Amino acid sequence: MLWQISILNHMLSIPHSLTGAFIASKLPHPALYIPLTLGIHYLQDWIPHWDIGTGLSNGKRRKSTAIIGEILELGISVALIYYFFGNVNSGLQPHIWLGALTGIAPDLIESPRNFLSWEPWFIKPFNKFHSLFHHSIPNIIVGLLPQFLVVGLIWFLK
Ligand SMILES: [Zn+2]
Repeated sequence: MLWQISILNHMLSIPHSLTGAFIASKLPHPALYIPLTLGIHYLQDWIPHWDIGTGLSNGKRRKSTAIIGEILELGISVALIYYFFGNVNSGLQPHIWLGALTGIAPDLIESPRNFLSWEPWFIKPFNKFHSLFHHSIPNIIVGLLPQFLVVGLIWFLK
Protein backbone atom coordinates (compact mmCIF):
# COMPACT_ATOMS: atom_id res chain seq x y z
CA MET A 1 0.00 0.00 0.00
CA LEU A 2 1.08 3.56 -0.71
CA TRP A 3 1.02 4.61 2.95
CA GLN A 4 3.49 1.85 3.80
CA ILE A 5 5.91 3.13 1.19
CA SER A 6 5.73 6.69 2.40
CA ILE A 7 5.43 5.82 6.08
CA LEU A 8 7.30 8.40 8.13
CA ASN A 9 9.47 9.34 5.21
CA HIS A 10 9.78 12.88 6.36
CA MET A 11 12.65 14.78 7.83
CA LEU A 12 13.45 14.34 11.51
CA SER A 13 11.21 16.30 13.90
CA ILE A 14 14.21 18.09 15.43
CA PRO A 15 15.08 20.35 12.44
CA HIS A 16 11.36 20.84 11.63
CA SER A 17 10.41 21.97 15.14
CA LEU A 18 13.53 24.11 15.58
CA THR A 19 12.87 25.80 12.23
CA GLY A 20 9.31 26.66 13.32
CA ALA A 21 10.51 27.97 16.70
CA PHE A 22 13.22 30.02 14.97
CA ILE A 23 10.84 31.60 12.45
CA ALA A 24 8.34 32.40 15.24
CA SER A 25 11.13 34.01 17.28
CA LYS A 26 12.04 36.32 14.38
CA LEU A 27 8.53 36.94 13.01
CA PRO A 28 6.25 36.57 16.06
CA HIS A 29 2.97 37.23 14.22
CA PRO A 30 1.03 33.99 13.49
CA ALA A 31 -0.03 35.33 10.04
CA LEU A 32 3.67 35.33 9.16
CA TYR A 33 5.27 32.39 10.95
CA ILE A 34 2.52 29.80 10.41
CA PRO A 35 2.42 29.88 6.56
CA LEU A 36 6.19 30.40 6.31
CA THR A 37 6.93 27.47 8.65
CA LEU A 38 4.53 25.19 6.76
CA GLY A 39 6.08 26.13 3.41
CA ILE A 40 9.58 25.45 4.70
CA HIS A 41 8.45 22.08 6.12
CA TYR A 42 7.62 20.84 2.61
CA LEU A 43 10.85 22.30 1.25
CA GLN A 44 12.84 20.49 3.96
CA ASP A 45 11.04 17.23 3.20
CA TRP A 46 11.98 17.66 -0.43
CA ILE A 47 15.73 17.75 0.37
CA PRO A 48 17.10 14.17 0.31
CA HIS A 49 17.48 13.07 3.93
CA TRP A 50 17.51 10.17 6.33
CA ASP A 51 14.84 9.87 9.03
CA ILE A 52 13.38 7.51 11.61
CA GLY A 53 11.05 5.96 9.06
CA THR A 54 13.72 5.17 6.46
CA GLY A 55 13.82 1.40 6.17
CA LEU A 56 10.30 0.84 7.46
CA SER A 57 8.82 0.23 4.04
CA ASN A 58 11.29 -2.50 3.10
CA GLY A 59 11.13 -4.13 6.55
CA LYS A 60 14.60 -3.06 7.68
CA ARG A 61 13.09 -1.17 10.59
CA ARG A 62 10.23 -2.19 12.88
CA LYS A 63 7.26 0.07 13.56
CA SER A 64 7.86 -0.09 17.33
CA THR A 65 11.48 1.03 16.85
CA ALA A 66 10.25 3.97 14.79
CA ILE A 67 7.69 4.93 17.49
CA ILE A 68 10.36 4.85 20.23
CA GLY A 69 12.67 6.85 17.95
CA GLU A 70 9.95 9.44 17.36
CA ILE A 71 9.23 9.86 21.09
CA LEU A 72 12.96 10.23 21.77
CA GLU A 73 13.21 12.76 18.98
CA LEU A 74 10.34 14.87 20.31
CA GLY A 75 12.03 14.89 23.73
CA ILE A 76 15.29 16.11 22.17
CA SER A 77 13.33 18.74 20.21
CA VAL A 78 11.74 20.13 23.41
CA ALA A 79 15.13 20.20 25.16
CA LEU A 80 16.81 21.97 22.23
CA ILE A 81 13.99 24.54 21.96
CA TYR A 82 14.45 25.34 25.65
CA TYR A 83 18.22 25.51 25.18
CA PHE A 84 18.07 27.67 22.05
CA PHE A 85 15.14 29.97 22.83
CA GLY A 86 14.51 29.69 26.59
CA ASN A 87 15.04 32.78 28.66
CA VAL A 88 15.76 32.35 32.37
CA ASN A 89 13.66 35.41 33.28
CA SER A 90 10.65 35.24 30.99
CA GLY A 91 10.56 31.56 30.10
CA LEU A 92 9.45 30.47 26.65
CA GLN A 93 6.95 32.63 24.81
CA PRO A 94 3.83 30.74 23.57
CA HIS A 95 4.55 31.69 19.95
CA ILE A 96 7.84 29.75 20.10
CA TRP A 97 5.91 26.57 20.98
CA LEU A 98 3.21 27.30 18.41
CA GLY A 99 5.93 27.80 15.80
CA ALA A 100 7.57 24.51 16.76
CA LEU A 101 4.20 22.73 16.66
CA THR A 102 3.50 24.22 13.22
CA GLY A 103 6.91 22.93 12.12
CA ILE A 104 5.88 19.33 12.76
CA ALA A 105 2.15 19.74 11.96
CA PRO A 106 2.18 17.95 8.56
CA ASP A 107 3.92 14.98 10.22
CA LEU A 108 1.56 15.01 13.22
CA ILE A 109 -1.46 14.99 10.89
CA GLU A 110 0.05 11.94 9.18
CA SER A 111 0.87 10.01 12.36
CA PRO A 112 -2.57 8.37 12.97
CA ARG A 113 -2.28 6.83 9.50
CA ASN A 114 1.30 5.69 10.07
CA PHE A 115 0.89 4.29 13.56
CA LEU A 116 -2.79 3.34 13.79
CA SER A 117 -3.62 2.80 10.10
CA TRP A 118 -6.40 5.36 10.65
CA GLU A 119 -6.91 8.11 8.08
CA PRO A 120 -10.15 10.13 8.17
CA TRP A 121 -11.33 11.42 4.75
CA PHE A 122 -10.75 15.08 5.62
CA ILE A 123 -7.06 14.40 6.39
CA LYS A 124 -6.39 12.41 3.21
CA PRO A 125 -5.79 15.46 0.92
CA PHE A 126 -3.24 16.88 3.40
CA ASN A 127 -1.36 13.58 3.56
CA LYS A 128 -1.46 13.21 -0.19
CA PHE A 129 0.01 16.69 -0.65
CA HIS A 130 2.63 15.97 2.03
CA SER A 131 3.73 12.73 0.36
CA LEU A 132 4.57 14.61 -2.86
CA PHE A 133 7.63 16.10 -1.16
CA HIS A 134 9.25 13.08 0.48
CA HIS A 135 12.83 12.33 -0.49
CA SER A 136 14.36 9.76 1.83
CA ILE A 137 17.75 8.16 1.33
CA PRO A 138 19.13 5.09 3.13
CA ASN A 139 22.62 6.54 3.72
CA ILE A 140 22.46 7.78 7.30
CA ILE A 141 25.61 9.98 7.14
CA VAL A 142 24.66 11.81 3.92
CA GLY A 143 21.01 11.87 4.98
CA LEU A 144 21.64 13.46 8.36
CA LEU A 145 24.07 16.10 7.08
CA PRO A 146 21.46 18.61 5.79
CA GLN A 147 19.59 18.26 9.07
CA PHE A 148 22.70 18.97 11.16
CA LEU A 149 23.31 21.99 8.92
CA VAL A 150 19.77 23.27 9.59
CA VAL A 151 20.19 22.90 13.37
CA GLY A 152 23.67 24.49 13.22
CA LEU A 153 22.42 27.39 11.14
CA ILE A 154 19.54 28.03 13.57
CA TRP A 155 21.99 27.95 16.49
CA PHE A 156 24.19 30.47 14.65
CA LEU A 157 21.36 32.82 13.61
CA LYS A 158 19.08 32.67 16.66
ZN1 LIG B 1 7.02 16.09 6.66
